[in-house]
Amino acid sequence: MTSRGPDDDALTWNVAGLLADPPGSERAYPIDGVRIELDDLRLAAPIAGRVRLQRTNRGILATADLRAALALECSRCLREIDYPVEVQVVEEFLPSIDLSTGKPVPTGDEPDALRLTDHHEVDLETPVREAIQLAEPIAPLCRPDCPGLCIVCGGRLDEGTHDHPDDDIDPRLEALRAFRAPDD
Ligand SMILES: [Zn+2]
Ligand SMILES: [Zn+2]
Repeated sequence: MTSRGPDDDALTWNVAGLLADPPGSERAYPIDGVRIELDDLRLAAPIAGRVRLQRTNRGILATADLRAALALECSRCLREIDYPVEVQVVEEFLPSIDLSTGKPVPTGDEPDALRLTDHHEVDLETPVREAIQLAEPIAPLCRPDCPGLCIVCGGRLDEGTHDHPDDDIDPRLEALRAFRAPDD
C-alpha cells in the first residue's frame, strides 16, 4: 500500500448522477495543478487540461486532453530540461456495481475492461500515468540544434570557447614532434 496524498483523488470523478442520465449526456471538468507519481520519471510541471465524461449505453466514456512537462536531460549536452508533453486519454469505464440494485456486476465476460470504482467513480490516474510515460521521447533535446559536448574538454559547446588545439596536446608529444621535424 502506498500512502494517499492530497492529489490522489484529483483524477477521480463521481459519475453516479451521470449514470442515471440517458446515453449521450455529458459533463466536463477542468483539471489543474495535478501531480502524480511516475515510474523512473518526474513531472516538471503539474497536469492541466480538461476531461469530458459521457454516458454511453454501457458505462462512461472519459476523454481527457492534458498537458504537463517532464523533467528530463538533454541527450546531447546533459542539461536539465522541462519537456512539455500533451496527451489525450480516451477510455470507456463499465460499471462494477449495478446502480439500481447495489449488487456487483458480473465482470467475467470482459475481465480486461476498465471498471468504475465501487463508489461509481471514474479513476483516470492509471491511464493518465501510462499516457504520460509513453510520451517520454527517446532522445530529448534542449533545443533542436543543440551542439552537445566538446570532445576535448567535455564542456558544453554552446558555452565558452573551444578552440583549444595546442594547450591540450601533451608537451612530451610536442617535444617529439619538434625533434622529428627535420627528418620529414
Ligand atoms: Zn542540449
Ligand atoms: Zn572544449
